Amino acid sequence: MKSISPNDPILLTSSLHVDEARKAISDLVNGLIHESASNGNATDIETVPLDQAINRILARDLLSPINVPAADNSAMDGFAFDGKCLDTTDTEISLRVIGTAFAGKPYDGQIGSGQCLKIMTGALMPSGCDTVIPQEFTTAKDEHFIIFDQSQLKRGDNRRLCGEDLQEGKPAIAAGRLLRPSDLGLAASLGVAKLEVKRKLRVAILSSGDELSTLGQPLDAGKIYDSNRYSLTGLLNRLDLEIIDCGIVRDDPASLKAAFIEAATKADVLISSGGVSVGEADFTKQIMQELGDVGFWKIAMRPGRPMAFGTLKAIPGKSSATLFFGLPGNPVAVMVTFYQFVRAALLQLNGASQTEPPLTQAISAEPIRKKAGRTEFQRAILGRNADGKPTVKITGSQGAGILRSMSEANCFVILGHDQGNVAAGDWVDIALFDGLL
Ligand code: AMP
Ligand code: MG
Repeated sequence: MKSISPNDPILLTSSLHVDEARKAISDLVNGLIHESASNGNATDIETVPLDQAINRILARDLLSPINVPAADNSAMDGFAFDGKCLDTTDTEISLRVIGTAFAGKPYDGQIGSGQCLKIMTGALMPSGCDTVIPQEFTTAKDEHFIIFDQSQLKRGDNRRLCGEDLQEGKPAIAAGRLLRPSDLGLAASLGVAKLEVKRKLRVAILSSGDELSTLGQPLDAGKIYDSNRYSLTGLLNRLDLEIIDCGIVRDDPASLKAAFIEAATKADVLISSGGVSVGEADFTKQIMQELGDVGFWKIAMRPGRPMAFGTLKAIPGKSSATLFFGLPGNPVAVMVTFYQFVRAALLQLNGASQTEPPLTQAISAEPIRKKAGRTEFQRAILGRNADGKPTVKITGSQGAGILRSMSEANCFVILGHDQGNVAAGDWVDIALFDGLL
């Protein structure tokens, strides 16, 4: 795929494949990361207690301070013994039970030949034992003896070895991990109480448009409430960032320029919505030319065709560049372009190793009309059909301004650039909203 600079003039006229746009964004973010590292900003790391580390990005590999398990222990409730006794032609083995080992309460005696120890799951393997026969495979011969068929197991079975999960000094969690509940549990299991994570990105948001009203104000004729800042706030909160809300900006060049400068001064990333469609882009473009390198893209996708992207560099008093996304104004297009472009860029900029949201597939319950030559994101509901197979149904009208169908949906059906109409029963790609949107 060809590499594209965001202010390449070709982008102003021709339609860009979503993959090309993603590649251009990722390349630019990579450049910013290198720039920031050479300016010494790579040390933007803070240490936080485990209970505050959820959704943060791990800044350095977490090396395990201990072996896990710390010592050999039993994987089953049963009887521990020296597996040497299995080296016989007898099918039936009989052992004398000389005591019990509990989890957290080890048995310190020695187990001799012909003897065994009743043992609980997680209890330390007693000295001289290397094998555990599960309780259910044994029969009590009398109060003190068990018998079992030796074909049930081989030497070393049902024993967890010291360091089997993780060896001391080896990476338990790699740098770049977006920390999930299991990672916090894993760190705790190693006795680690604090983690080194990346500083939260500062992301400024603003809405542009003369027609926008603030919540709490009466809705005058021709006005609409500004919803984009709220959906963007929700989307950003999923990523645990610091949000700087710069409010609504009117459609006049001076206010817009002042607002962009103020927002860029405070933030690592600026996300605006509105003002990039054909009718309005001209003065936005002019401002952007003064403030930085920003391309105005027509992306071959629906919804979300117009989008501006680049960096603001000429910000007085600020040496580092601010990443800029000028999202379309339509409420659904804002969410789709965020999902498709902004989310991964924010994660990448903050050092995350995994930036792409997971995709899965489901059977389309109905035919879907689709034009080849653009990527489409249709709002849909994922469920199951009578056979228990995952099926997906589009939520009615797909207009880019219809937020209700977005609110009712639980996933996107993503129809690729070259794909044509979908027939009922075809498998389609889907992206679940849960945890993402
Ligand atoms: P624009 O990209 O500015 O031409 O806006 C496209 C459409 O989205 C228009 O119908 C706008 O009224 C609407 N729109 C723009 N900004 C917002 C916003 N912040 N909240 C809700 N709708 C918006
Ligand atoms: Mg507008």
